[in-house]
Amino acid sequence: MTKITPEKNNYHAATFILSAAKLENLPSDDGYEVAFIGRSNAGKSSAINKLTEQRNLARVSKTPGRTQLINLFKLSDNKRLVDLPGYGYAKVPEQVKKDWGKFIDDYLCTRKCLRGLVLLVDIRHLLKLFDLQILTWASQANLPIHILLTKADKLKYGARKTALQKITAEIKKLPGEISTQIFSATENIGHAELKEKLNQWFNELA
Ligand code: GDP
Repeated sequence: MTKITPEKNNYHAATFILSAAKLENLPSDDGYEVAFIGRSNAGKSSAINKLTEQRNLARVSKTPGRTQLINLFKLSDNKRLVDLPGYGYAKVPEQVKKDWGKFIDDYLCTRKCLRGLVLLVDIRHLLKLFDLQILTWASQANLPIHILLTKADKLKYGARKTALQKITAEIKKLPGEISTQIFSATENIGHAELKEKLNQWFNELA
């Protein structure tokens, strides 16, 4: 495999492209995408805003009615960040949950330019059924997954370390290429590590 010179990815230069309700509405399937997913309130918007150093970039995904949409942000001509719809908003009807699942599953399984998936999990919670389902989908789609243990500032140093160890032990038992780290959007915890992981995905050759 030929190595390419790692490119600098200007996350702070990210701009909103569009919101898609259907896969057909997505931009053409070329270049590279990295997608973010998590239960509602896991800290997805805060993490995307922190990564891009923009206070309101991911706010668009919070607009009522847009919560079931895929939001795309452009980093450069061939690199995009993707904000997948959060799961667990209020008490949505069973059919909406099913449609959501199918939409996400279709996106993960058919999108060729997808390089990796960032799964956001509140560090105070263990992996829930939803997270395990996403991990299963990612593994079936042969997609590497990086778990961000968010809101790490809410725990003291020792408790953070314990939580990281617990999740690390849990993911070892699961199939697929899974990594994890702690993160906080409000304190300087894990920002460089997240960028490093994304750089790795964006800059690797297929
Ligand atoms: P989303 O629904 O996954 O997009 O979650 P948000 O980013 O909107 O965050 C949900 C709530 O958690 C908000 O009240 C945020 O201010 C808070 N939050 C998000 N990230 C952090 C963090 O790193 N530390 C702390 N203390 N609060 C956070």
